[in-house]
Amino acid sequence: MELATKLVQVGVGRDERTGAISMPVYQTATFRHPGLGRSTGFDYSRTGNPTRQALEDGICNLEGGRRGLAFASGMAAIMSVMLLFRPGDHLLVSDDLYGGTYRLFTTLCADYGLTFSFLDFTDLESLDHCITPKTKAVFVETPTNPLMKIVDLKALINLATQKGLLVIVDNTFFTPYLQRPLELGADLVLHSATKYIGGHNDVVAGLVVSNSEELGEKLAFIQNAAGAIPGPQDCWLLLRGMKTLAVRLEWAQASALRLARFLRQHPAVKKVYYPGLPDHPGYDLCRKQAGGFGAMLSFEVKSMEMVPEILKRLRIISFAESLGGVESLITYPETQTHADVPVEVRRRLGISECLLRLSVGLEHPDDLEADLSQALEF
Ligand SMILES: *Cc1c(COP(=O)(O)O)cnc(C)c1O
Repeated sequence: MELATKLVQVGVGRDERTGAISMPVYQTATFRHPGLGRSTGFDYSRTGNPTRQALEDGICNLEGGRRGLAFASGMAAIMSVMLLFRPGDHLLVSDDLYGGTYRLFTTLCADYGLTFSFLDFTDLESLDHCITPKTKAVFVETPTNPLMKIVDLKALINLATQKGLLVIVDNTFFTPYLQRPLELGADLVLHSATKYIGGHNDVVAGLVVSNSEELGEKLAFIQNAAGAIPGPQDCWLLLRGMKTLAVRLEWAQASALRLARFLRQHPAVKKVYYPGLPDHPGYDLCRKQAGGFGAMLSFEVKSMEMVPEILKRLRIISFAESLGGVESLITYPETQTHADVPVEVRRRLGISECLLRLSVGLEHPDDLEADLSQALEF
């Protein structure tokens, strides 16, 4: 089955008793037992809930994994994955990580005794010297955020698995519609489902998919024991959102390419970061490894003084954190998503104070281009 079909069919046919096409919201905390030592398969909604189960099985099928698990947020998903590790363990992680992940790793996880090396995975040669007997895993985002660097997943996975490392991929930006890391040999894929999976800027949630029953069991234990689960209503919103993921992404990425071209020729713009532009260093790799270029782009304007003015002038594109929803959003990594990354680290990575990140939504591209055009008129 094509992925677009699988997406639409998520949750369909699961409610055998009524035949409901839309998976019902089982808004219940607990379930009556048919008798002593007997269960309907559901006992308590932290452990399992039918609406959540439909979502978990759905994302598992889409990513091509063995077990899917839902969490209260992307960060809860990432923290739950970190609970697989023990104090003293070392992880190799992307250097331009989502700011919240950077904060989690450098504060709570560091306090818990985990250690991290931040690496540019576009240069795999640096990897070897960083692996120690304590190194347990690689945690990677591709495209990276906000600079849209593309990492060669196949090469990274081969190298890491040779060394016995677990490979964890944050697939939030591309979703299984464009990129399926488990099929390339990754062990875990995770999402901020708040973004493209939910797709409507109306729910915060996270998802994890494992490629083995064993890892899936461990994570299901953590999910139940630590309890960072989403409620049934939020699970339903994600099921609802997923159905249109293919059309949403196709439309949004076509608009993103158009806006990237528009911005690139604009005199107020210094640089555009979009993997769909042929001179982007990850263009060929992205074509080979993913089913498209996504709908996220970043651009640098000529001066920092222009930033507040542009943000004020934009009418359709909202100045707001987050991404991947129907509404176009623009963020300023310097003070928003990446504010917790130390300024010297930001500069070293190339995240400048002139950089804006655009999540291209589903408004008509003519209107988005006109909005950017009037906001950039100086
Ligand atoms: C938003 C985001 C997260 C965190 O997810 P929340 O749902 O906001 O907790 C993690 N990784 C990436 C790439 C994100 O964009």
